Amino acid sequence: MRRHRNVKIVATLGPSSNDYAMIRALHEAGADVFRLNMSHGTHDDIRARHAIIRQIEKDLDSPIAILADLQGPKLRVGSFAKGEEELVEGDTFRLDLDPAEGDAARVCLPHPEIFAALQPGSHLLVNDGKIRLTVVTCGADFAACTVSVGGTISNRKGVNVPDVVLPLAALSDKDRKDLEFACALGVDWLALSFVQRPEDVTEARELAAGRAAILSKIEKPSAVACFDEILAVSDGIMVARGDLGVELPVQNVPPIQKRLVRRCRAAAKPVIVATQMLESMIESPMPTRAEVSDVATAIYEGADAIMLSAESAAGQYPVEAVSTMNNVAVEVESDPTYREVIEASRKANRTSVADGIVAAAREIAETTDIRAICCYTQSGATALLTARERPRVPIIAMTSLRGTARRLALTWGVNCVMTAALDRFKMAVVNAARAARAQGYATEHDQILVIAGVPFNKAGTTNILRVAPCAEHLIFATDPE
Ligand code: PEP
Repeated sequence: MRRHRNVKIVATLGPSSNDYAMIRALHEAGADVFRLNMSHGTHDDIRARHAIIRQIEKDLDSPIAILADLQGPKLRVGSFAKGEEELVEGDTFRLDLDPAEGDAARVCLPHPEIFAALQPGSHLLVNDGKIRLTVVTCGADFAACTVSVGGTISNRKGVNVPDVVLPLAALSDKDRKDLEFACALGVDWLALSFVQRPEDVTEARELAAGRAAILSKIEKPSAVACFDEILAVSDGIMVARGDLGVELPVQNVPPIQKRLVRRCRAAAKPVIVATQMLESMIESPMPTRAEVSDVATAIYEGADAIMLSAESAAGQYPVEAVSTMNNVAVEVESDPTYREVIEASRKANRTSVADGIVAAAREIAETTDIRAICCYTQSGATALLTARERPRVPIIAMTSLRGTARRLALTWGVNCVMTAALDRFKMAVVNAARAARAQGYATEHDQILVIAGVPFNKAGTTNILRVAPCAEHLIFATDPE
């Protein structure tokens, strides 16, 4: 499915996007990646949606990435005798391990790990940060707090603890079961919630054992603090602005987004900007001007992908939300300022032959009349490096591995074409030219660039850059075997 933009669109599936017709309409409108949220729905629901996506992929002959988003541990207060209580600023309120129902003075917080990590001065945020408690004194089984920001607290409301690294693994028992289920099903990406440190990622990576790529959701201040270490052990990143905006002051989120997007590009790893991008479209067919501007900003910053959550999962206008993102992307990417910004922010630490080859490919493509950069890739690494250059011409990733094609659906500008495993360079050029013509990027009269590695079908061997004609008789007349 040919797109007329480089940034990718991730659409979360849910009750509003459950059946073949709707999911196909979302893909045709522009969704490149579907997110299955493991916080909602049963394994049977997830299995059914997975099967529909794979059917659409087959029917349209278009690789689609599936991202399973693991819930992560959820911290919640217990219940109240009256169901809810009003906390008033300046009052004291106690959290403890006593399972008895709560009142206006106390409630159970059934997480000893939290008490183990708290210190006087730490903050606890309840109900998406609407209530703010400051710890005055604490022990192994309690925290006596002052109410800094009051409000209504009710049964089982969520708790965030932004200031401390909690001695909790990012994977709960439910997450481990979900991870195994999703890997066995054959998802392409696993998103990890509640990442606090690089070890959280390596643990999930070990469990996934190469069956899915690992995407770390950055939603906690501790993850921002050790972002470079987390990035080093992740295959991709999600700027999870929802939780990040609860755990940190909201005004801190935009600069963090900018920094994370740049670091991911420099590391040639895909980054998704997520949450509330077109929030009003849950109920309205038209976005607000501010939302359009937010989507545009992420694209100008060079994000690989932009994401819809409730807009496509539970909203009334899922297809319109995808089309809106698509239209904004086409407009932004045709703006000359976009090219200026993208080129000014190119920052690559080039240390390998592959780094040099992809940089040269971009230079050549932009100096002469080249219609596409076709790169042969096994692991996907060459396509990721080519995308990091953010070239003006389309990137066609040629791979014999369906898993690689699907994972690359998340990466800026990469169009994937499945190809047979090759052993002759001439056929690599012929197939690349055929793909460029078939996708409508080039004609018989054009030239393309082919990046490949010899010996073929071995990851990490990128060593050839060929300027090639698209006409087959010319390839056969000029190319070595
Ligand atoms: C977020 O917090 O922005 C996010 C995407 O995470 P969740 O899955 O919890 O919505």
